[in-house]
Amino acid sequence: MANPLSADEVIPVQAPLTPVCCGEETTFVMREGIEDIRRYGPEMMRALHLHILHEMHISGSAAPRLLGSLDRDSAPAAVVYRCPRCGRHHFRIDQN
Ligand SMILES: [Zn+2]
Repeated sequence: MANPLSADEVIPVQAPLTPVCCGEETTFVMREGIEDIRRYGPEMMRALHLHILHEMHISGSAAPRLLGSLDRDSAPAAVVYRCPRCGRHHFRIDQN
């Protein structure tokens, strides 16, 4: 049977995974830029900063630089997820 999808419609094998928390996939909230993240308040900023430090292993001046460059309509952007069980926010930095 012929593949009905053209090459650029095929989902990439290395598609980023949804973060998992409490043994379950978290729920997508929003794709956000740094201005949006700031609006959520300092807790969200701290959580995102920790994600960059510990999950992405980016430290020193590169971490605040990445934070400051987050742009919802461009890249990199912060993709925000929330755990339906414990309510914790999780992040993925979308580089595309
Ligand atoms: Zn959780």
